[in-house]
Amino acid sequence: MDCIFCKIASGEIPSKKVYEDDRVCAFCDLDPQAPVHVLIIPKKHISSIMELDEENADVVSHVFLVAKRLAGELGLEKGFRIVSNCGEDGGQSVLHLHFHLLGGRSMKWPPG
Ligand code: 5GP
Ligand code: ZN
Repeated sequence: MDCIFCKIASGEIPSKKVYEDDRVCAFCDLDPQAPVHVLIIPKKHISSIMELDEENADVVSHVFLVAKRLAGELGLEKGFRIVSNCGEDGGQSVLHLHFHLLGGRSMKWPPG
């Protein structure tokens, strides 16, 4: 499958990985929107939130536990934001489920 994030997960495309285990990996975004901008992805290909079901959704809670751990390790004690863009209106540009962990600055609300 021609998926950038599958290739990053397998190491075929290089990335700056900050965490990896058997189910997920986390790496720095190529175009950071905050001082800390990490993408956390399931290693197994899931296109988006819309592809989640009872069989594969457990990985999402694991992603959030990894995000919590990374927030501690990356100095985000003042807070952070987790975003998963879904579909065209959501602004999803890579069709492999991913969670942006953003921090190191004050976030605005509402997002654009
Ligand atoms: P989306 O727009 O789908 O929510 O987020 C995709 C993110 O992936 C963007 O923030 C973009 O900068 C990042 N990205 C796209 N291609 C690559 C890549 O090859 N390597 C890394 N590290 N990030 C990428
Ligand atoms: Zn993929």
